[in-house]
Amino acid sequence: MSFRSPVVRHVTTLLVLPLVALWLAAPLSAQSPSPRRTKVFISVDMEGLAGVVNGPEVNPAGPDYPLFRTIMAGETNAAIEGAFRGGATHVLVRDGHGNKNNLRPSDVDPRATLLRGLSIGPKNMMEGIDSTFDAVVFIGYHAKAGTANAILEHTSTGNVVDVAINGVSLPEGGYNALVAGLYGVPVVFVAGDRAVVTQIRDLLGPIGAVAVKEEINDASLGLSPQRAIDEIRQGVALAVRNRSSAKRYALPGPYTMVLKVKTERPLYPGAQRVREGEFTFTSTSVLEVLSAFNAMK
Ligand SMILES: [Zn+2]
Repeated sequence: MSFRSPVVRHVTTLLVLPLVALWLAAPLSAQSPSPRRTKVFISVDMEGLAGVVNGPEVNPAGPDYPLFRTIMAGETNAAIEGAFRGGATHVLVRDGHGNKNNLRPSDVDPRATLLRGLSIGPKNMMEGIDSTFDAVVFIGYHAKAGTANAILEHTSTGNVVDVAINGVSLPEGGYNALVAGLYGVPVVFVAGDRAVVTQIRDLLGPIGAVAVKEEINDASLGLSPQRAIDEIRQGVALAVRNRSSAKRYALPGPYTMVLKVKTERPLYPGAQRVREGEFTFTSTSVLEVLSAFNAMK
């Protein structure tokens, strides 16, 4: 309902109509096009950050956790800066580790928005992604459970032995790339240890990457946080600038997941138990498969 009087409405019409007429009469070249938005989605984990070598360093109860939160913010801000240098106009950061509240909001470059806290639904570390984005960047990522020569390798919870979709065994970065692919968005860059860089490139092709460390007999040999920051900034800028050459990751449906776990959880509706610790689930929807994964992992 409007409270405007007829007189006010009439005056408004008088003012607006000539403007519309002017706009319509202007040559096409003189009409400023709406600026193209370029949106970059950054998903950040902790195990693959520079220097991290053991679990307590990325656990809020650990004495050195505050230091690694600061390193997390440093690598995140380097990726944000790189994204803007590479042509981004909007950046969303998804805190993807543990309870998803590791990044201190005030530490994050104010040009980006930060999605923090646990979310409902299957997207998890990719919550917030949609088809308005142009590129995805992974920071602080780690290799899947069972990977040799990797630092803090695991898949989601420590309970997962392996998860495969249509016969492809996937790390977190693999099924997160699949989620981005549902919306037509390619992953263009990954930072983490050397093992995850190799694993993600084997799946997605030669995307931009920085290996911030590598495993040597369970120990970590790596870059200083400052050097990691410099390389991530440069690498993300290049990868975002060259995003048109990156391909979205997709597998042909329907999707059959084979999930192997150490300790069994209740069966997700429609899932089948193959043998002790092994389940299958089939759907035409990747997100439904990930819901089954999250319920039984
Ligand atoms: Zn993590």
